[in-house]
Formats: sequence, C-alpha cells, structure tokens
Amino acid sequence: MTKFVIDPAPQVCLPIRGSNESFPVRRIYCIGRNYADHAIEMGHDPNKEPPFFFQKNAQNVDTSGTFPYPPQTSDVHHEMELVVALKSGGADISLENALEHVYGYGLGLDMTRRDLQGEAKKLGRPWEVGKSFEKSAPMSELVPASETGHLDQGRICLKVNGEIKQDGDLNQMIWKVPEMIAYLSRFYDIAGGDLIMSGTPAGVGPIQRGDKMECEIENLGTMTIEVI
Ligand code: MN
Repeated sequence: MTKFVIDPAPQVCLPIRGSNESFPVRRIYCIGRNYADHAIEMGHDPNKEPPFFFQKNAQNVDTSGTFPYPPQTSDVHHEMELVVALKSGGADISLENALEHVYGYGLGLDMTRRDLQGEAKKLGRPWEVGKSFEKSAPMSELVPASETGHLDQGRICLKVNGEIKQDGDLNQMIWKVPEMIAYLSRFYDIAGGDLIMSGTPAGVGPIQRGDKMECEIENLGTMTIEVI
C-alpha cells in the first residue's frame, strides 16, 4: 500500500438520486457559448464554429445548497447548465457510441466571476481566475440515464428570487451531448468520473448575497442554491 507523505485529498463525490452510492468526480469540462442566444448576448457570432472548452477542478464542486459570494470580484454571474456524468471514456470515441459512456445527468451552475473573466479575455489570458474558484460549481444529485433516458430536449430555467432569468430548451444546444463527448475524446483521454457542463442559455446575470437561485431541468429535477 502506498504511504503518503501528507494526507491525500478526499475524493470529491456527487450523490445519486434514490441511492446511497456516490459518483466519484474526476475532471470537469465546460463548453463555452453553446446556446446561440447566449453567444449573442456575450457579443459573439452564434454560427457553428468549433467548440471550445475550459476546465473547472473537481474540488470546485459543491452540493451544500449554498454559494458563498467569492472574494476578489463584484460581478458574479449565474450560468445554469445540464451536467453530463460519464461512466467510461477513451480516445477518439465515435458519435454513434458516445452516449454509451454517459452514466447520468444533473443540474449545475457554472458560477463565474464575470469581471475577472472579462479582464482575462481582454488580456488574452486563461479564464481560470474567473471560472475555477472555490465552490464555483454548485451541483445537484445525479440521476442515472437509465431513469431519465438521454436528455436532448426539455426546458432549462433559472429563477432568482422568484423571477425568471434564464429560460431555454436543451434542444437549443449548438453542440449536442454526443458531439461534445466525441470532440473532447479527440483531445483528451476522457474517463469515467468526468463531468461535462454543457453550456448555458441566455439570461446570465449577477447575483448578490441573500439571493435564492431556483434551477430546473424538465424531466430531471430541481435545485435551489442560496447565495451567502
Ligand atoms: Mn458556462
């Protein structure tokens, strides 16, 4: 048995709905601008160009139902997203076989320090400081695809303090789930435990301490997050 010189970090896990088993999280791939109306609101051309991804860290996942307002920012935005959880992976996965690698689905928020992301964009720097900070990925429990079927349509929405801010449909994704899996597998060895945050519909915006974010994906479930 390996002897560690310091205690190893605990395995980050997501709960499974209706089960006492857990899903161990490995990597988190996040796609940018995957809904045309969100690409437009961020000032970009919504035409289908190759997708691009950034990563969050597994340790950014949080399932406590709260989101602590992070430091070094005054403009934190919500981005409501479908989370795709992989049970297996590989390299050069074909489009036809891609969905066989999906364990299940969950709700997730790609919380973003928009001011820091904007500055990084302007300077041509990486986005990590805007995207991959502590507790920047609030997530729900996962639901196995064996229960939901594969989710390629259905309402995805987010309310802040009861007011609808984001309201889209999963069928508006520019790059569909099998395409994202196939594409990622050409660049990385993707694997069981990996999560894909599949992009956000239009209506992203700032939150403040005390706000309540209510998230819903049709045929999947709901998640409520309080900003503290
Ligand atoms: Mn996002």
